Amino acid sequence: MNVTFWGTRGSIATPGPETAAYGGDTSCVAIAGIDPEHLVILDAGTGIRRLGSEIGPRVRRIDLLLSHLHLDHIVGLGFFAPLFRPDVAVSVWAPPSTTPLLERLGRYLSPPLFPVRLRDLACELELRDAPEEPVVRGAFTIRAVPVIHPDTAVGYRVEAGGHVIAYLPDHEPALGPSFPFEMTWTSGATIALDADLLIHDGQYAPDEYTERVGWGHSSTLDAVAFAELTRARALALFHHDPWHDDSRVAHMTREAQAATGAVTVTAARQGATVTLGERRASVPAP
Ligand SMILES: [Zn+2]
Ligand SMILES: [Zn+2]
Repeated sequence: MNVTFWGTRGSIATPGPETAAYGGDTSCVAIAGIDPEHLVILDAGTGIRRLGSEIGPRVRRIDLLLSHLHLDHIVGLGFFAPLFRPDVAVSVWAPPSTTPLLERLGRYLSPPLFPVRLRDLACELELRDAPEEPVVRGAFTIRAVPVIHPDTAVGYRVEAGGHVIAYLPDHEPALGPSFPFEMTWTSGATIALDADLLIHDGQYAPDEYTERVGWGHSSTLDAVAFAELTRARALALFHHDPWHDDSRVAHMTREAQAATGAVTVTAARQGATVTLGERRASVPAP
């Protein structure tokens, strides 16, 4: 199973030389399993545009899992080429709401904000609620739980070939009363348990976080504590702050690595692929 980071940045895209190493595109991660016709994609930030241009004619089925509908996680949707292919079936999953997903996404994908409406897309489109019970999609099993973040957001657990990927890009478990000591009541812990690769919000340096409690994001050290609590094998710090250049992200990552002996810690790098071949994740060094 290959996990590729197409967008790693949080909040807003930050292209430029100062973010060239870790990436300036917003959240998008692709998971390719054993079936070359089927892809799982996590979030549709600006990174999904380049991913879409690389998806070849063999891919016929895509499950696109949206963690939530904050703009940095959906802004790339209108530029995702497979949506305009009649031979591709795309299922979009998102947090449940009393407002239908078609209407929620349609606020962005309709004039005057965007010239094309969802119903005019050429692909075979299906809109689904993120599943709290495990759902089998080809070789993948997918599950979601609500997590602590402003507005409704979920984290996902994706299993395939005996491996587990947990994706919690926007998450502030430190607001929970039992964090980081007790797994039972910790936000997101059930889906993250024993992950081979935990992709987790690590937006802030520890000293920054004290000024941003309640904003919905984690410090790098809280991401490490969450990874230790849930027994992750590897942690990829994700949703890098738009104000952090490459050297800042590298420094924060070294601090996080020094804080744990139990978890392999890296910062997610746009363009990097993590291969889950055996039982352990091997993550490119920052
Ligand atoms: Zn975000
Ligand atoms: Zn968000």
